[in-house]
Amino acid sequence: QAKNSAERDAVQYHSGMETGALHKKRLGVALRTAVEAGELSVAYQPIVRTSDLTVISVEALVRWDSPEFGRVSPADFIPVAEETGLIHDIGKFVFQTACQDMAEWPGLKVSINVSPAQLREPNFANDFAAIARRNAVVPNRFKLELTEGLLVRNPTIAKRKLARLKSMGFGLSLDDFGTGFSSIGYLRQFPFDWLKIDKSFVAELGTNPTSNALIQSMIALGDALDIAVVAEGIETAEQLQLLRLLQCEYVQGFHLARPMPASEVTALLARLGDSRKIVEDPSRAIE
Ligand code: C2E
Ligand code: MG
Ligand code: MG
Ligand code: MG
Repeated sequence: QAKNSAERDAVQYHSGMETGALHKKRLGVALRTAVEAGELSVAYQPIVRTSDLTVISVEALVRWDSPEFGRVSPADFIPVAEETGLIHDIGKFVFQTACQDMAEWPGLKVSINVSPAQLREPNFANDFAAIARRNAVVPNRFKLELTEGLLVRNPTIAKRKLARLKSMGFGLSLDDFGTGFSSIGYLRQFPFDWLKIDKSFVAELGTNPTSNALIQSMIALGDALDIAVVAEGIETAEQLQLLRLLQCEYVQGFHLARPMPASEVTALLARLGDSRKIVEDPSRAIE
């Protein structure tokens, strides 16, 4: 019935199933041939404006269906890809795929997750710019999602690289905000356009008063620094309602739409029409 059932029901392979070192080694070996063997794909999850649920962008999320392991979670294989250096090819595959897919989605922005290891690669900015150019997509249709770890490790270099990407036209988004080391003064030094409140805070919204206060302060911080705020991991109508009350500008989560293949994004946009307003109930929003 559900076209998106792979996303919903896939038996995920988790690292807990076998011990760390062996598991990582086996994943690394399998991952080495995964790109060429066509085992990787890209799913897209809508990000919507909280006030009227207009779809404003999608986040590209890599998927790996391994003949040996089945569907492997990025949380398990991205760290392996980073350690083995495979992240560079995987990153380019995701970006190239997104460039092709978004040709069908005029006006829609696409967020791309970028690992610290990718940004450390000297050719990263040039490679991405070249891929975008080759596909005739302007860099300002992208938001590169980066995590705090990257900024903390070498702030001077990070600042320079982010400024370069920004000058090329790429948008910048700080992912998983609140989980790493960050302060107001610190954040201000970097040219982020977006800030994504980590889903761990959203998960406790309404049940843990501290969480409400933290989210509130992150939203205030975004306002003060003129950075758009997105809350990720919205799973319930209650969470959406609370984020509305807190005036969080954008939301993303299973309650609104799951990650889906490119063809389903195209179908969703066609169904939503010019308004691009999504239906809140996820069972209705997704075919
Ligand atoms: P992320 O960038 O923070 O992405 C959000 C994750 O939350 C995604 O998991 C998404 O499927 C999941 N999610 C979305 N809505 C909900 C919700 O309502 N509830 C819950 N519980 N989860 C939700 P996913 O796709 O498994 O990716 C995990 C992480 O792997 C990403 O976290 C990102 O750090 C990394 N990743 C994914 N794709 C790529 C990629 O192409 N390149 C790089 N470097 N990293 C990637
Ligand atoms: Mg992300
Ligand atoms: Mg995140
Ligand atoms: Mg994350």
